[in-house]
Amino acid sequence: MLIKFNVLLLFNTAFALQQNLRNQILISQKNKCGMCKKNFSKLIPHEIHHLNHNASDNNKNNLLALCCNCHAAHHRYNISVKPYFTDINNSHP
Ligand SMILES: [Zn+2]
Ligand SMILES: [Zn+2]
Repeated sequence: MLIKFNVLLLFNTAFALQQNLRNQILISQKNKCGMCKKNFSKLIPHEIHHLNHNASDNNKNNLLALCCNCHAAHHRYNISVKPYFTDINNSHP
């Protein structure tokens, strides 16, 4: 029972950390998808992508918020994903 409780506690802590990280990432990306730059919304949910495909590497530099379409496109069709750059407003489409 004690082990079970500890696992649950560990899971909750990891989850809370992830929520916090998610928020930080969304703020730094101005709530936009790192690929198509669409604003996230209820209709365009965000997903956190691990740039090096290592799901246990939660370093901020390894995480990128993508919309579900871009995320799926990357994993299904190997469309390349680049890290989000903050000077995105200066780049032309
Ligand atoms: Zn997108
Ligand atoms: Zn991913």
